[in-house]
Amino acid sequence: MRTSASVLHLDLDAFFASVEQRDKPSLRGKPVVVGGVGGRGVVATASYEARKYGVRSAMSTREARSRCPHAAFLTGRFHAYREASAIVMGLLRSVSPLVEPLSLDEAFVDLAAADLPDLELATCVAVAEDLRARVHEATGGLTASVGLGTSKFIAKVASDLDKPDGLTVVPPGTERDLLRPMLVTVIPGVGPATAERLRRAGIQTVADLELVDLEELVRLVGKAHGNGLFHLARAQDDRLVVAEREAKSVSVEGTYDTDLTDRKLMEGLLTRQAGEVAERLRKHGLSGRTVSIKVRLHDFTTLSRSSTLSSPTDSTATVARMARGLLADLDTSGGVRLLGVGVSGLADWIQEDLFGETTEEEVEPLPEVEVPSSRRRTWSPGMDVEHTTMGRGWVWGAGRGVVTVRFETAASASGPVRSYPDDDPELSAWRPADPDETAPAPPA
Ligand SMILES: [Mg+2]
Repeated sequence: MRTSASVLHLDLDAFFASVEQRDKPSLRGKPVVVGGVGGRGVVATASYEARKYGVRSAMSTREARSRCPHAAFLTGRFHAYREASAIVMGLLRSVSPLVEPLSLDEAFVDLAAADLPDLELATCVAVAEDLRARVHEATGGLTASVGLGTSKFIAKVASDLDKPDGLTVVPPGTERDLLRPMLVTVIPGVGPATAERLRRAGIQTVADLELVDLEELVRLVGKAHGNGLFHLARAQDDRLVVAEREAKSVSVEGTYDTDLTDRKLMEGLLTRQAGEVAERLRKHGLSGRTVSIKVRLHDFTTLSRSSTLSSPTDSTATVARMARGLLADLDTSGGVRLLGVGVSGLADWIQEDLFGETTEEEVEPLPEVEVPSSRRRTWSPGMDVEHTTMGRGWVWGAGRGVVTVRFETAASASGPVRSYPDDDPELSAWRPADPDETAPAPPA
């Protein structure tokens, strides 16, 4: 165990919803729900104003609408979230080389690896406060909650104690006092099923858990889990902050303004993406064994499927065939918003062919595929648009042949609302230049 509170956990507050409020001035201070807006959609993030009405992440959008009908229900804009996330992760890496992102909006930072004069409590707190201020400034107003503690577990618990926009420090030696009154679900890995099993044994708080010996815990929840619980209940957590390793995979993905439903089109897109991935592998002298696809459905759920070969490949035909095979097992009838292909398990060599034959890259012509855009356009609530004379805005709502747009951006005041026929040629989707095209690190 560390003797200094040098593990920092930073968590952006209501991240997706906060980015939407930043970029849509008319929604500031109002309930905003980001997620799937269709029939089977789920809530990804609710703003604090919406949480007051009981709207929570992972709740069905239908339930959220009944609890807070006046909220703005928006589909996500991942380009904006990725951009904000990159700014924040960059700031964290300027503090310490040891930054471990958990998701777009959360990361651990190891201050023991930072260039600090000491790891006294006051020093760590000053770093944390400075970081919070810089995040706010650099992201155009997003807030972050931060926890400081002697381990990852404690830092993560702490960042959640004073949300939003808070800093919680757990001084070394006070960890167990902090945990004792908390419910066992505060411990990572204790989900509803484990919590229920423990509850039936009369264990509800961490203090209750502390009284149970290791043998009994193992009997209750199994060996691997029991061991972990035993130590975490005593705030014993030696897990290291592990910096993101170099590119472990090469992938290409595309997001679409229109829900794709045509299988042939999807297969064509995957084949083209497989071609781009394989070309990047070959360019960098890499090959990989695991091919995966990523599919985001119209209701915001994201599916990943992968399959592993017995030996590494950099062949377009192989990657494409596997990607199409993985798609075949998924139900995409409701429409698809994002498709991607990746290859991981990379090796910087290609297995020698034992039989000495040279196999030429099988030539499969890449299909000409065109994503339907101009004819039947989908205007999803929240998406960025541009009008030839009114400028930039976002889709407030659409239906019955009409699309309603509010013309405002992060930098403007709350803007005017106008309606147009949904095929108005003066209105188009707006997207920033593609930020995703990053080459993998060359092999060492
Ligand atoms: Mg968060």
